[in-house]
Amino acid sequence: MITRKQQQAAQEQAGQMIRASGVRITEEEIKKIEVVDFGLSHLDIEGVQVLTLVQTERISVKVLVLFPKQTEPEHWHPPVGNDPGKEETVRIISGTVYFYTPGEDTFKEGIPVNGKESCYTVRHVTILKPGDQITLQPGEKHWFQAKDEGSVMYSFSTIARDALDQFTDPDIVRITIIED
Ligand code: ZN
Repeated sequence: MITRKQQQAAQEQAGQMIRASGVRITEEEIKKIEVVDFGLSHLDIEGVQVLTLVQTERISVKVLVLFPKQTEPEHWHPPVGNDPGKEETVRIISGTVYFYTPGEDTFKEGIPVNGKESCYTVRHVTILKPGDQITLQPGEKHWFQAKDEGSVMYSFSTIARDALDQFTDPDIVRITIIED
């Protein structure tokens, strides 16, 4: 849960970061930035800000913002009906991101909360900087974390059904509750 005030402050901060990264967005779009706390109520630690630019029945384009050291928790995009699940490419516009996927354990750093190791199981790190990108296959687990300066990224994918995403952390609820 986050308050309306926290939501607006996060939208403003994310909007400024997007503009500072060189991506033009309107004031209306800043008000539409989705602030996601994953039901964990510590947005700055585990959370993400999402501006959806395109969402059709086939494709999705989003701008993702991570604040400094903010972590998007481990998740995957499951099959839905005949769709094998979302295939997604994340491309870095600004900042450095540690991106974790299945494979050899090359873990460097980043478990966001002491004692939550069991919620972050994939440990193969790819360090991404502006201009770098990574493509995730449907169903592939992933989590990622911005370094000190935060990060702005593009996400290009097949249709996004965010509400159906699966998370390793059983305490996560994808749809954030905003309290007035
Ligand atoms: Zn994802």
